[in-house]
Amino acid sequence: MTAYMDHKDLANETIDSARVQQITDGVRRVLDTIAQAESDAGRDAGSVRLLAATKTRDVGEIMAAIDAGVRMIGENRPQEVAVKAAGLQRLCAQRGFTLGVQSDGSQTSAHAPRTHIPFHLIGQLQSNKIGKVLPVVDTIESVDSIEQAEKIARRAVMHGITVGVLLEVNESGEVSKSGCDPAHAILLAQRIGSLDGLDLQGLMTIGAHVDDEKTIRRGFAHLRKTRDLILAAATPGTEHCCELSMGMTHDMALAIEEGSTIVRVGTAIFGERAFI
Ligand SMILES: *Cc1c(COP(=O)(O)O)cnc(C)c1O
Repeated sequence: MTAYMDHKDLANETIDSARVQQITDGVRRVLDTIAQAESDAGRDAGSVRLLAATKTRDVGEIMAAIDAGVRMIGENRPQEVAVKAAGLQRLCAQRGFTLGVQSDGSQTSAHAPRTHIPFHLIGQLQSNKIGKVLPVVDTIESVDSIEQAEKIARRAVMHGITVGVLLEVNESGEVSKSGCDPAHAILLAQRIGSLDGLDLQGLMTIGAHVDDEKTIRRGFAHLRKTRDLILAAATPGTEHCCELSMGMTHDMALAIEEGSTIVRVGTAIFGERAFI
């Protein structure tokens, strides 16, 4: 378990009204930034979805973001998924939403159609933690090898479910980053797409950690080109490979200009992280 989890009760559901207001303002600002960037880039309104990156935030903070309009969340650590899932699912159900995969294995309610809030894993997943996230998350964004994809696929088939996956690509080449080599991305996506139990939904990258806009943009543009080539090759199992998960607090406008369909934002919604 990570040390900060000893200092903060991530299952906590009650936060004060000042904190609710901060988070509400944060969500509104980010939704405005996205709308402006879509319009500046000549893209349709609503073509980019906001994923709230919720690492180190507790259930109360995450629900404040959902109440302010967030409709997709992403966690980094399987342990955090496990600690928060039950509370989040219960509070979402009270509001008429479903979140992630329900305990009966369904991704949407069998009864009245409800708004579904996808629950993604956006951080690295060790094979011994697959069982911790599979009962809850709809999509794993951090798949970067065929071995890992095969392990997740085997588990999914065992549970009788289909798990969404994005192939993470290390476009910046920074050694500290996970993700596959961009030169292998197309072939890898095609092999992942062929596995039973997985639904290949797109590609993910983390922008280069530099100030130079051109460098950041080049990585995003290359991810988009890779996605387009995968779709054009039309290998069976790659038909749904449409999403481009790219853009965070500091580079979301650039990512949207380069074709992002999901931006993963933490700091601009919740403020600076006290841990990590
Ligand atoms: C933390 C995190 C984000 C969000 O980062 P911010 O800079 O806080 O917006 C996005 N993607 C991943 C993979 C992350 O770990």
